[in-house]
Amino acid sequence: MGTGVYAMSLARVLPYTKQLLESVIEPGDCVVDMTAGNGHDTQFLAERVGPEGRVLAFDVQAQAIEESTRRLDEAGMLARVDLYHESHIHVGARLSDEQRPVRAGVFNLGYLPGSDKSITTTGEETLEALDALLPVLAPGGLVVLVVYHGHLEGKRERDAVLDYVTALDQQDYAVLQYRFLNQQNHPPFIIAIEKKVRG
Ligand code: SAM
Repeated sequence: MGTGVYAMSLARVLPYTKQLLESVIEPGDCVVDMTAGNGHDTQFLAERVGPEGRVLAFDVQAQAIEESTRRLDEAGMLARVDLYHESHIHVGARLSDEQRPVRAGVFNLGYLPGSDKSITTTGEETLEALDALLPVLAPGGLVVLVVYHGHLEGKRERDAVLDYVTALDQQDYAVLQYRFLNQQNHPPFIIAIEKKVRG
């Protein structure tokens, strides 16, 4: 009634990312956070998999690993998480036989807000990481990428990722793009990749 405040029926990008992940993750699962940052998504995943589950999380910045460690420790969930101070391209090497296949993975691309903007995910490494992750994804499992494309590397990465996922065989994967079309200033969008269950 003229207050200027509207409720949105369509989920925003970050809540929808969580909704998608939540729809596939069960207690006891193994999942990966490919860009730990300040550890918000890592904590969300750790809550979902529970004490019997496992989260592997990667980040190339020491500051991100320290902040994620602090956050998880405070939440009492550090014991169910392995944090790796290295690029997500190493995900395949870090997963033990018992941890395969993984139920879900999330990439929150770009740079850490409030930190060094030159340390950003790159199209090249993101594709290498997807190449490593998709073969170890469980049938019915999900990889969700949040794509930020306001910065120069973000545009290159967006194009590289869109080309890559568009070319995935539809017999093996269902690929979704979730994007608000009328928002200004390059709003982030979601790509979700579901590995199909072979009938
Ligand atoms: N999900 C995070 C959170 O909840 O706070 C935010 C992630 S932030 C948008 C992107 C992160 O990716 C940065 O912390 C950056 O250091 C990290 N990063 C950049 N290149 C990477 C790589 N090759 N492997 C893993 N992490 C990387």
